[in-house]
Amino acid sequence: MKDADDPPPHPEEFATGHATCELGETHDGDHAEFLWFTEKSFAATWLRWSDADTHTIVTLPCCTALTTTGDGCGLYADHPSDHSWAVTDPTREALRADLMAHPERFGLPPDYFNPS
Ligand SMILES: [Zn+2]
Ligand SMILES: [Zn+2]
Repeated sequence: MKDADDPPPHPEEFATGHATCELGETHDGDHAEFLWFTEKSFAATWLRWSDADTHTIVTLPCCTALTTTGDGCGLYADHPSDHSWAVTDPTREALRADLMAHPERFGLPPDYFNPS
């Protein structure tokens, strides 16, 4: 069983060093960033924070919504935003593009995403 001290399975998810909300630009309630899936049950661990800057790490059941092609929503059950496939966030997209183009800026090997 994983706990909060276990390393993340996908370190690139954390390489930016910035918590970026996955719920989009406007939504009610806390902001949230996916951390990792739990090994048992259909759930994942999330970092959540409020505009008052209080942070919590919580494990939540996954959203069960599917697209018409069967892709799952990447968020937790009862999230206050659109499903993940409908969420766009310019800040998150800019960070991701910079990470993909310049992984060395984030402490990763330069060929991290394109190993030769
Ligand atoms: Zn947010
Ligand atoms: Zn959803």
